[in-house]
Amino acid sequence: MTAALSTALPFLPFSKPTIDEDTIAMVGDVLRSGWLTNGGPKVSQFEQQLSEYFGGRPVRCFNSGTCTMEIALRVAGVGPGDEVITTPLSWVATANVILEVGATPVFADVDPVTRNIDLDKLEAAITPRTRAIIPVYLAGLPVDMDRLYAIAGMHNLRVVEDAAQAFGSTWKGKRIGAFGDMVSFSFQVNKNLTTGEGGCLVLNNEDEAVLAEKYRLQGVTRSGVDGIDVDVLGGKYNMTDIAAAIGLGQMKTIDAVNAHRESLARHYYQCFGPDFAASTGAQLPQPAFGSSNWHLFQIILPDRGPTTRADFMRALKEQYNVGSGFHYAAIHLFTLYRKLGFHEGMFPESERIGRLTVTLPLFYAMTTLDVERVVGAVKAVLADQATQP
Ligand SMILES: *Cc1c(COP(=O)(O)O)cnc(C)c1O
Repeated sequence: MTAALSTALPFLPFSKPTIDEDTIAMVGDVLRSGWLTNGGPKVSQFEQQLSEYFGGRPVRCFNSGTCTMEIALRVAGVGPGDEVITTPLSWVATANVILEVGATPVFADVDPVTRNIDLDKLEAAITPRTRAIIPVYLAGLPVDMDRLYAIAGMHNLRVVEDAAQAFGSTWKGKRIGAFGDMVSFSFQVNKNLTTGEGGCLVLNNEDEAVLAEKYRLQGVTRSGVDGIDVDVLGGKYNMTDIAAAIGLGQMKTIDAVNAHRESLARHYYQCFGPDFAASTGAQLPQPAFGSSNWHLFQIILPDRGPTTRADFMRALKEQYNVGSGFHYAAIHLFTLYRKLGFHEGMFPESERIGRLTVTLPLFYAMTTLDVERVVGAVKAVLADQATQP
């Protein structure tokens, strides 16, 4: 494929939401109803459907998948003096929420194959001050959930699952969110199910749900006609009815969306072929069919120096009109975290993957032809770069 030919094809982004006409109509209905937010019917309807989806567990919706985790930590009573263990290879929100509640983030490096937190290293990082752990299911791939909860049980730790990317993922046939401790999902625009911005938290019982509702809206409890009290410090984190209407529309198609994503992922493996890694030095993700929801399809590039990824992403875009992303740079190397004492060399797997990971296009509106186009472009760019000094 020549460069001129391939850039003639429309730009293929790495992610793009699909909002169907029924959903757009439902949002129009909300806008016309005059009841746009707080206490409107759509949020509670969405929470009800999510609760059914997660086996009847209590669910509350929020305006992001970040505040869900912050609130989960508050509900668990995590605060100053407590340590929370998580992975350095995630969106920075995962660690920021630990700082936000005044606790101390402790990182454990990732497993190079799954790219998720290494549970041996997690266990080794536990101290008498450890109160909670935040595992992340990167790209939608769960960790070993049996082992995770065995560790949590043995050391009496709370778990706040950062399942932001794992809506519809399963572990041994059980849906992520339908079991475990507190489980947080994000509905940010790139996620498999979106509300534009938003998130939900799956909780253990009604007491936790009531507390989460207080943290969601200024700590307020209402009673009777005009009774109001505030007994905890809450924020402004409620979901609008507009967002919930989008979510309700997305719930209707989520199973089809995830199934299509899986079939695109299968096609990626077929097109890359069994000798792709050996012939290029790049790594494909773990082929976790039947568990991952295929939120992202990420390859790890062969290391060709500090500009490896930028060069690759630029060539993919300029020569083939194919977009890509990187999820994520290692959190502990950000300035804010370096100021806390973290530095290079502490978590080498996360640092390497954080520098060389590339997210290829994968979204519902894509076709198998798009996958073939991406694989052709990736192989051509890698071959081209391999011949350069
Ligand atoms: C998207 C995401 C979040 C944050 O969700 P927002 O809804 O953007 O606040 C947290 N963790 C991970 C791993 C994510 O992918």
